[in-house]
Amino acid sequence: MSVTDDAIPPIVSVEGLVQIYRLEGQDVAALSGVNLSVQPGEIVALVGPSGAGKSTLLSVLAGLMTPSAGRVRIAGHELSGNDVGRLDDVRGSDLAVLLQDVSKNLLPYLTVRQNIELGWPKRLAGTIDADAVLDIVGIPSELRPQPVHGISAATRQLTAIAATIATNPSVLLADEPTSSLAGVEVQAVTDAILRANKELGTTVIAVTHDLDVATALDARVITIRDGRIRMDARGGSTQVLIRDDGSIPLTDDIFGQFPAGTPVTLRPGDDADTFVVRRATGGDA
Ligand code: ADP
Repeated sequence: MSVTDDAIPPIVSVEGLVQIYRLEGQDVAALSGVNLSVQPGEIVALVGPSGAGKSTLLSVLAGLMTPSAGRVRIAGHELSGNDVGRLDDVRGSDLAVLLQDVSKNLLPYLTVRQNIELGWPKRLAGTIDADAVLDIVGIPSELRPQPVHGISAATRQLTAIAATIATNPSVLLADEPTSSLAGVEVQAVTDAILRANKELGTTVIAVTHDLDVATALDARVITIRDGRIRMDARGGSTQVLIRDDGSIPLTDDIFGQFPAGTPVTLRPGDDADTFVVRRATGGDA
């Protein structure tokens, strides 16, 4: 499935992505033909059951894994192929990755502020300062001189977000950014991501198992199952694929209203792009 807006080129574009893990004696197809376009400034939540292929998709987008087939373009860079030098260029400028274990994004004995200043790209010197970034993610001033090993898990997560957005990437990839947190801590992280998106224009693609997080981020929700995109929901409508047998997967809310076995009538719509589904009444043929 592919959603594109012709006026603005997508910042992330994936075509025919296939990822096969070769294990002894058998191949596992983790991604089986994924097509995806993400527009600049979008927030996308990748959801789906365990084993669906979410982490694999994120790893391919992050350039951590070379796909078995297909094309990936991020911010105008072609990631397909094994061009490690080009991948480094993209990661150094246009792409930031927030790992699930954020301790890997941070150096524990440095302070919160030093972690932000660390590896600051020369091209950004003078354009943004650490305190401005820490303001965006909402870390109070008194915590900024503290070493990272002594702060709470939630503040560590916010520090990692600050460290990733400090390089002003076009795209932030995040793997389960709230999985180790609860309640107000989850909200602090979703608020930080929302502010980065609003204030810096960062495009965000986040894997999450938590639909409340997707809702809090007002995200476009892409459901992956068995290595394919099954639903793509944004702005109140959901794009789905008609299955090989002609059936159409329903969203949970529609399925709640029209459970299995509900008789419906189908008729062609007013144009070639429309058809109408209506609950059948006693008088329907
Ligand atoms: P998710 O993130 O949605 O839980 P994954 O991308 O981790 O899904 O996994 C997709 C499929 O690929 C699963 O069947 C999983 O068992 C398999 N898989 C993931 N990583 C590996 C690997 N390193 N080697 C072999 N199979 C893997």
